[in-house]
Amino acid sequence: MEFTDIDRFLDDFKHIVNTDSASGNTAGILKVAHFFQKRFSRMGMVCDILLPGNGKVPCLKAALGNPPYDMMLLGHMDTVFPEGEAANRPFSLQDNQARGPGVCDMKGGLLVALHALETLKKTGDLEKMSVCILFNGDEETGSTQSRPLIMETAKTCRRVLVFEPCRPDYHLVNQRKGGGWFHIDVTGKEAHAGADPHKGVNAVVELAHLVSLIQDLNDENLGTSAQVTVISGGDKINIIPAHARASVDVRILDPKEKQRVEDFFFQLSRKRLFAQSVIQVVGRIDRSPMTATPKSLAIQDLIMAQARNMGFVMGAITTGGCSDGNLTASVGIPTIDGLGLVGANSHRKDEYVELDSIPKMVTLISRVCRQLAGN
Ligand SMILES: [Zn+2]
Repeated sequence: MEFTDIDRFLDDFKHIVNTDSASGNTAGILKVAHFFQKRFSRMGMVCDILLPGNGKVPCLKAALGNPPYDMMLLGHMDTVFPEGEAANRPFSLQDNQARGPGVCDMKGGLLVALHALETLKKTGDLEKMSVCILFNGDEETGSTQSRPLIMETAKTCRRVLVFEPCRPDYHLVNQRKGGGWFHIDVTGKEAHAGADPHKGVNAVVELAHLVSLIQDLNDENLGTSAQVTVISGGDKINIIPAHARASVDVRILDPKEKQRVEDFFFQLSRKRLFAQSVIQVVGRIDRSPMTATPKSLAIQDLIMAQARNMGFVMGAITTGGCSDGNLTASVGIPTIDGLGLVGANSHRKDEYVELDSIPKMVTLISRVCRQLAGN
């Protein structure tokens, strides 16, 4: 089983990359959804365009067979690029690269899933499989509307393959950190910095003290990071500041760290430097990590073995970035991510994918799906 129809892939690629579909662009995302709906329907799949949550985020669900499905193929149709981007910077090819808004993250990956299934249709293998596709439209804004749909759909599938970009030199993603954020507000008391320093409570000094405690949360061995990324406080040089504020980006790899980190932040006011300062903390860890499990590693092994059969080596990475794979892993479904086209520079104008990864990844995924079917 070998995918060879690169021209057809590139025609599809040009069409969907040149369709603007920023998160929030309901009409644009709907156009992309209709493109895939047509193609999946043609293969005999049952397709629905769903509008979960606020009704403004089109999601495409396509299914073949009955649950529990052998696999879920998961991706997102939205990009970070605004309306007009495709006209300014249309799909283009040069040497071994395709460029354009969302080529890598992740319109190329959506097409890997489509063409892999079309390849299986041609060989007559598709009918022997049960598969569920879910393409959502708000991943780049945290999947706030599609999150329950993704998690509920994942529970009807035995495993999840996510088509975020494959990393350079064919590295899939087998772990993703989870994470969240915290905001810390300190209220002290204003006073003349020169005349009455004893009458003030310096919110900036208090916050500096807390920031140094937060820094101690970082634990490379556990895969936990807590980084104070934004800070403000004070107004005039001769006034002791009454307000200071900081924001913290938190990432965790070990699910147990959620408790430790959240406890730390919610008990932070107990560790204050000045008895009179008031400390308010809001935030939480809202994305669980996608951790490797024996079941997810078994899928990884199968993918890597198929790649070796095809004559190339696949590696695996852990990343600090989150995807919808975090959601499917959080409900206990084995998940492997990074199965789209090989590329880099997501969310940037110099985003690209490697053209020679098209036949490799489509062939690989079709073989992997065939092997996973029925197991
Ligand atoms: Zn993405």
